[in-house]
Amino acid sequence: MFNGTDKRYNQYSAYLKNKFGVKVYKITLDAGFSCPNRDGTISTGGCIFCDEGGSFSQAHSNLLSIEEQIEEGVKTLSARFKAQKFMSYFQAYSNTYKPVKELEKIYNASLCRDDIVGLSIGTRPDCIDDEKLDLIAGYKDDYYTWIEYGLQSIHDKTLRKINRGHDFDCFLKAYEKTKERGINVCVHVIFGLWESHDEIMQTAQKLAQLGVDGVKIHMLCALENTKLADMYSRGEIDFMSEDEYIQTVCDFLEYLPKTTTIHRLAGNGLKKNLIAPCWLGAKMDCLNKIDRELMKRNSFQGIKFL
Ligand code: SF4
Repeated sequence: MFNGTDKRYNQYSAYLKNKFGVKVYKITLDAGFSCPNRDGTISTGGCIFCDEGGSFSQAHSNLLSIEEQIEEGVKTLSARFKAQKFMSYFQAYSNTYKPVKELEKIYNASLCRDDIVGLSIGTRPDCIDDEKLDLIAGYKDDYYTWIEYGLQSIHDKTLRKINRGHDFDCFLKAYEKTKERGINVCVHVIFGLWESHDEIMQTAQKLAQLGVDGVKIHMLCALENTKLADMYSRGEIDFMSEDEYIQTVCDFLEYLPKTTTIHRLAGNGLKKNLIAPCWLGAKMDCLNKIDRELMKRNSFQGIKFL
């Protein structure tokens, strides 16, 4: 139903293949950034789920230069997936948290091969300004350019609970300035933040109303050496069951417009330091169950989008 596949949602990988005519893979990069919510500028604790890798990040290779990380990524992804084109993906921590001159050098270094067709930069909405956005907008004529904003929820009470260090209004301002410059925006959300089903759907409806270009969905999970792991070990919190997560994902997708690309529906590479919930370790299983649930409902992304 989407991108010539049998998926009932607008899967980003299939969207990229359609757009570029070949498989395109993101190379995750670690440029040694930090985060104002970890280094004491906003708070020293960081988000309660954040681990020492900058939370959910697969890039932990800042001993290598950016160019070396790119070469490694190309080699690995070509061998494993026959990838032919690539996007530089600055994933770990807040990848706009340096002066603009330094950012320019870092981003340029990642665009060091002809087969790099895109640039994706993960950051916080309070870590961006006009100068940085102008720099990033400067890449969009030559590269498929995205900013990925961690939002997690539109509800300020939830953002306070997870020690996010910014509110929804901060996201809205950053979003508006980013879209004014024609940069694609992917928004990260987390399910299982002790919100009601209605509250999670309000986040879906708001993102649908904003017309965000992409969404990445995570399930809240406790990784080793996080505040969340401590809370879990003290018996203070519980996690969504797999079934509840699958139902919530499908409900969420139904509200999003068909044009919103879905960058992720379950965590990647979490097995190693995952404490709970255990079911999240079997990612493919979870994705297949989401496909089956949409089929069972005879539903698809956007069915409830007005
Ligand atoms: S914004 Fe990202 S890197 Fe910073 S504390 Fe939160 S999860 Fe960690």
